[in-house]
Amino acid sequence: MGNAEEAARREQLASALESVQDRVRSACAEAGRDPASVTLVVVTKFFPASDIRLLAKLGVTDVAENRDQEAGPKLSDPMLTGLGLTLHFVGQLQSNKAASVVSYADVIHAVDRIKLVTALDRAAMAAGRRPKVLIQVSLDGSAGRGGAAADLVPELAQAVSEAPAIDLAGVMAVAPLGADPDMAFATVARLARTMREQHPGATWMSAGMSGDLEAAVRQGATHLRVGSAILGSRPPLR
Ligand SMILES: *Cc1c(COP(=O)(O)O)cnc(C)c1O
Repeated sequence: MGNAEEAARREQLASALESVQDRVRSACAEAGRDPASVTLVVVTKFFPASDIRLLAKLGVTDVAENRDQEAGPKLSDPMLTGLGLTLHFVGQLQSNKAASVVSYADVIHAVDRIKLVTALDRAAMAAGRRPKVLIQVSLDGSAGRGGAAADLVPELAQAVSEAPAIDLAGVMAVAPLGADPDMAFATVARLARTMREQHPGATWMSAGMSGDLEAAVRQGATHLRVGSAILGSRPPLR
């Protein structure tokens, strides 16, 4: 990227980031929440490592990817070394990719079955790493966007809490298409509270994206996963 091009992209990202941060601050003010209790995780899928670097220089601390085949090479780009970023994996995950994802991800959001818990624990143990894990709950009962049925969440949480090499951090959800996000996230908040009673360390609620982050803040989300509102619309799948 040329210097002028890079400066233009930096301006674009800075202004989009600022408007999302404004939205988060207003939502927190309306909900009577401390903005420091909400972490903005910027979803950088389909965008280059150079964008991640610019975002880090603009103060972003947490970034997320959703496909191992893209994230592995991108996140190991030397231009990202030493930026102190916390790396999140938010996509559907096959057990056979557990070792790869564990090698770079600090937080894994979409854990929805026992087989994956076992695979992640084994991979973390072998690699000497200790990722945080969130249980993804499916709010519409369809398996398409991943997630466990709500009644299976307690046993998954128990399995993660008993696994020696991974840490249970909380719950994650995507609002179903067409659903009222406040109602969807209120359900997630109830599950998060129940989980916390059993596992006091599981304090995270990962919910809210570009279109529904205000509802997520109102319902108590601690981690927002925002992509297109900051990076722009994603290029079509190649
Ligand atoms: C892409 C993605 C996001 C970000 O979505 P936007 O609508 O672009 O903000 C959030 N969560 C997950 C799991 C994603 O895959």
